[in-house]
Amino acid sequence: MSFSQQFRDPALTQSRILRRFADLLAPKAGPELETLAQRAELLTRQFFGKTMRLFAPLYLSNECVNICKYCGFSRDNPILRVTLTPEQVEAEARHLAHEGFRNVLLVAGEHPKFVSSDYLAQVTARLAGFIPALSLEVGPMETAEYEPIVRAGAEGLVVYQETYNRTAYAELHTAGPKRDFDWRLDCPERAYAAGFKRLGIGALFGLAPWQEEALHLAAHVDHLLRHCWKASLTVSLPRLRPAAGSFEPRFAFDDRALVQVILALRLCFPQVGIVLSTREPAVLRDRLARLGVTMMSAGSHTEPGGYTGAGADALHLTQRGKAQPVIASEGEHLSATEQFAISDERSAAEVSARLRELGLEPVWKDWDAALAGAA
Ligand code: SF4
Repeated sequence: MSFSQQFRDPALTQSRILRRFADLLAPKAGPELETLAQRAELLTRQFFGKTMRLFAPLYLSNECVNICKYCGFSRDNPILRVTLTPEQVEAEARHLAHEGFRNVLLVAGEHPKFVSSDYLAQVTARLAGFIPALSLEVGPMETAEYEPIVRAGAEGLVVYQETYNRTAYAELHTAGPKRDFDWRLDCPERAYAAGFKRLGIGALFGLAPWQEEALHLAAHVDHLLRHCWKASLTVSLPRLRPAAGSFEPRFAFDDRALVQVILALRLCFPQVGIVLSTREPAVLRDRLARLGVTMMSAGSHTEPGGYTGAGADALHLTQRGKAQPVIASEGEHLSATEQFAISDERSAAEVSARLRELGLEPVWKDWDAALAGAA
């Protein structure tokens, strides 16, 4: 049974593990939360050692056919857009490799014409020789469309449901293929069938009440652990950040709630990786690094060409979805518009040094591949 079918079951969250998860989300006094934090830290070290995997997002394109009210790339936002050529993507990736990254997440808006399966397979093949851990966060596809990308060397597929609340989902996704809630919900299973070895899921917190969102996210984790058991699984808990369109969160999700969700995930699903991006401020990231987070982005840019300036000569402005040429005035340096403003602006080297101060070993390369090579 696919998760979209299971999701309709009124008893979805009544299993023992999900009732325990819900208990962990209930209000907790400080000392109780502290005890849970100590147990979570212990479990994280048992399952992941004193390590933190580092990765960088590499934006391929900010073209998008969807209207998502909370996203800077939403097709109705008049922003500067570009899709990098495979050569330009390679230049960006080589820059990241030079900084030490061996784990890169290729990110793009959903645009079947510009960001096709062929394009992604081509880009992946170009990078696979020097970036051993390549994952994708792109518009959902059919299993057959994923297969050439896996053959080209990609090993991970990340897709956030954004919100598990159907009503909120329908209100926030008003045009484009993303309107299909169930199609998105089953995307990780299609990716697994195509051969991806790592699956990443998440919810964008702030679109629906956080306890409800977290519980449905946990139900999704539970389902994937049982049905896609050969893949390793990561979970992300992004919070809304300022972006073009100036969308405001509909529901609060404060630091304490974020901590509680991380603890609940770690205590119920100790083998699952937890990802924290540069959306969060440096001080909070340093604190969460010890609690349950196992993977962090660092030194990130959220626009295509953000690391090297690649693609600046091919920018266009979209007005109501129509492309207009852009002409820079003399001395003006234009770049593609970012998806959202990051909060932790430290360089990758600074994040790495801080992790060491905290007693954690930054891991830049893909340890699975390293172990496979050693076998
Ligand atoms: S969230 Fe994704 S699909 Fe929606 S507008 Fe942004 S890039 Fe496009």
